[in-house]
Amino acid sequence: MPLLVSGSAKAFFLSALPHSKRMSNSGVKTRLRGVVFDMDGTLTIPVIDFPAMYRAVLGDDDYRRIKAENPYGVDVLREIEAWPPHKQRKAYDTIAEYERQGLERLQIMPGAPELCAALDSNKIRRGLITRNVKSAVDIFHERFGITFSPALTREFRPYKPDPAPLLHICSLWGVQPNEVIMIGDSLKDDVACGRQAGAFTCLLDQTGIYDSPQYADVEFKPDFKVTSLAEVYSVLKVNFDLSP
Ligand SMILES: [Mg+2]
Repeated sequence: MPLLVSGSAKAFFLSALPHSKRMSNSGVKTRLRGVVFDMDGTLTIPVIDFPAMYRAVLGDDDYRRIKAENPYGVDVLREIEAWPPHKQRKAYDTIAEYERQGLERLQIMPGAPELCAALDSNKIRRGLITRNVKSAVDIFHERFGITFSPALTREFRPYKPDPAPLLHICSLWGVQPNEVIMIGDSLKDDVACGRQAGAFTCLLDQTGIYDSPQYADVEFKPDFKVTSLAEVYSVLKVNFDLSP
């Protein structure tokens, strides 16, 4: 089967099938050597009001215009990249304030501790790539006692959706990208990063938002799609060789 999803997960079709072909051609499952997670909305329950943050940074009019021009989502970091320094500083301060408020209410995603424990028991490495800042990852590590290494934050340039952070992790681990899966809740950041790096990708879509027809023709589609982290381990067991 080119695309396997767990029982309750909905099928998600691939535009290109390099991974699936590789998986089915030999009849031998790919050995999985590492899992790289997104943080916000994947390992943690989303608590940042992103639309409010974008409006605060960009202003109502520009936010509406940019949103209309980018139906797959606003990339606020990219929008402010070319701004003059004083304006950019103010924007970063605004973003930091929203992120700080989010940290106060931070909660771990259901299924995350169990999934991490299962990966650990198979000696499968766990890494993290986030567009959030390092201090947020430090708080996450401290508060929940689960550590990801390496954990690359937006201080690492270029950040997602560029494949660079994922390729960097693979090289630190000494593994090939096609032995790694990227798991995240963003099609435009996590799946795009993973696919461009040559890794497998799993989209966490809790609300079914990506079933909407507007996502039918996106450039980068995930290999797997789940509605909760609790489904991930069985997807991995079915599709990969998890032996230590
Ligand atoms: Mg996310």
